[in-house]
Amino acid sequence: MASTTKRELEGRVDTQIVLKKKRCTINGCRLNMGHIHEFFTRKLLKEVAMELRSICDENCFSFIKLNRLTVLNSNATDRYSFSKAFCSISENDDEHSFGCLFKKGLRILIKYLDMQEMPSNAQERHVLDTLLHFILKMTNEDAQAPFQALEGLGETDINIILTNHLFGKLSTSSSFLIDKQYKAKGKTMGSCPCLNPECKSTGRFGDTGIGNPSVWHGNVGVIDNNEVVVEALEDEPDSESPERTPKEVKIKSACLSRNSQMIAETVVFSFLQKKRHPEYCQYLFPCIGVNSQEMVVYFYDAEYDVLLESSPIPLHVTQKSLTGNVSVVAIIVSWLVVNHQYLCDGLTQVLKKTRSGFFHQAEKRLFIYENELQFGNIERPCPKPKKRFSLVSDPSMKEIEEERFEVTLKKI
Ligand SMILES: [Zn+2]
Repeated sequence: MASTTKRELEGRVDTQIVLKKKRCTINGCRLNMGHIHEFFTRKLLKEVAMELRSICDENCFSFIKLNRLTVLNSNATDRYSFSKAFCSISENDDEHSFGCLFKKGLRILIKYLDMQEMPSNAQERHVLDTLLHFILKMTNEDAQAPFQALEGLGETDINIILTNHLFGKLSTSSSFLIDKQYKAKGKTMGSCPCLNPECKSTGRFGDTGIGNPSVWHGNVGVIDNNEVVVEALEDEPDSESPERTPKEVKIKSACLSRNSQMIAETVVFSFLQKKRHPEYCQYLFPCIGVNSQEMVVYFYDAEYDVLLESSPIPLHVTQKSLTGNVSVVAIIVSWLVVNHQYLCDGLTQVLKKTRSGFFHQAEKRLFIYENELQFGNIERPCPKPKKRFSLVSDPSMKEIEEERFEVTLKKI
């Protein structure tokens, strides 16, 4: 306590808060740095290790796969917003393991689970600590509660709750940017839409626009820690069909896979990240798609033109574990993805070999994707040409157009 300042000594409550912050850099922690590891019992270590099978053991029934997607056709060279993006994907059986992208992260985690060995690198130690703190916190029922109340909520609420209680908490910073259009839907800054009225959101509203108005562009739902796009795809409950049946919910859930909007956002965000971070040693960037039941992770590498999609990962499990009904696998996958900067190895040599065809698809406008994408201040897209211009193939219309043109010339 030698470094205790005057401010820290002002008032007992304040002193505690300042000291807590000083001792541990992990969000909301009350423990001394390093002290957390005493709470990680053998039982807890074993349970987490068991769950890792879904990522490491291809014989496990819930093994998470990665599919390399091939783009056959798309509207990527036109000025379409993400919600109107179209992408036709070929069916192929090119399957890989999700874990093959995260050997670095898995090595760090397995070393800890097996031998309680912490990484020597301070940054990696901090990232691992974030996960351990989170898992420990999730053994408490109060921390599990927000995950139980997602069903029936609209995409805005699902997105904020999951980023506030999962993705943001597993990131090195819990700050996240929420599409400012959500604010127009009556959401207030700093409040979390989960069942706890006291719950505060660490996100702020802002401009999440990415892309270029001449090609795919638009506002993404959430950008977590400046690094990962999180997009919730679920019907708003108060939209056109208020009486949704469970069957309809299921149909929506299935749309997370091979979803054109998700693919467009992933491709654009990856090109943008590559431009923003030329110092990175590899350019494979992820985006997360979620609904009330599961998550799917998309990846795009704008250097090698490789588009990948994970198999759906359920957020809940039927058999209760250390974290109640919240899936430990979903927690570990989220941790790997939001910290990809530290835990991802990039594409394997095998994955680098075959392209996904986006470069070819977007050939005419590829220079825009590579050089002219923006983050924020995306202009409103130009209005589409009026119908009379598209009817010039009709000879009578062509004559009318020519007459008008002549009249205009005379006036000049
Ligand atoms: Zn909350």
